[in-house]
Amino acid sequence: MKIIRTIILYAALGLSLVVLWHTTLRSPCSKTIAYDIGEFDSRFNISREEFLVIVADAEKPWEKKAGNDIFVYKPGARFKINIIWSQEQERLYKGTNIEKNLDTQQSSINSLQTRYQSAVSSYEKSKQNYENKLAKYEQEVSYWNERGGAPEPEFNQLQRDAENLDKQAQTINSQLEKVNTLAEQNNQKVENYNDNVSEFNDLFVEGDEFDAGNTDGTEINIYSYDGLQELETLLVHEFGHVLGIDHVDDPASVMYYLLNEQNQDGILQDADISALAETCRL
Ligand SMILES: [Zn+2]
Repeated sequence: MKIIRTIILYAALGLSLVVLWHTTLRSPCSKTIAYDIGEFDSRFNISREEFLVIVADAEKPWEKKAGNDIFVYKPGARFKINIIWSQEQERLYKGTNIEKNLDTQQSSINSLQTRYQSAVSSYEKSKQNYENKLAKYEQEVSYWNERGGAPEPEFNQLQRDAENLDKQAQTINSQLEKVNTLAEQNNQKVENYNDNVSEFNDLFVEGDEFDAGNTDGTEINIYSYDGLQELETLLVHEFGHVLGIDHVDDPASVMYYLLNEQNQDGILQDADISALAETCRL
């Protein structure tokens, strides 16, 4: 099963205001922006310490290019980086759980199907064996019937053969029951699996865009991310906005308005670097 990748929309709230302010004053890359962690929702699977490490990593691409230590973590600083719980994140975690369940269900279905196959093949073997014996028995019966009946020893033998055939038929019936039970169990499991797949697909609708993060130049809000690499990319993007950089057109660039498969590693592209050079008048 393939996950439908969600497209994440970055917002640039108040960006024009920030750009205007920066262009009339000195280069944003020549000053220091001290930040602190503000709202920190514990429902995200990350500790404050881990988060700070990722924030520090996200500063670096810009700082390296600008040749200046622009962003500095400083407890109590006015600029806040917030990590705020959102429906999207809830949906993402729900999706991850469903995926885990699907994996478990898949292996349970696989092992059930193996058991089903082996039950079917023993049933078929027994049935074949029974049919052969039955044919032989019937042949023998008609042989003696044509001769007006069997002598006592043969008659007794045929009686015992008939009893054995009955017993065998019972065994085959219970084998068939087992096959049917396994088939029912399998169908039930497949049905549950398919329900979960639908639930998963309903969670992620293709083309669904939402705000994964944004900034107004005085704080950064992070609302949703799928994995730590995505969080880092998101922060690189928002730091870019804080510097006054607007969105660029190249889908592979970090400053593209959407987080996608081309820019999710958070590596600055030519378009990002040019935008930085222009904004910071490097
Ligand atoms: Zn943006």
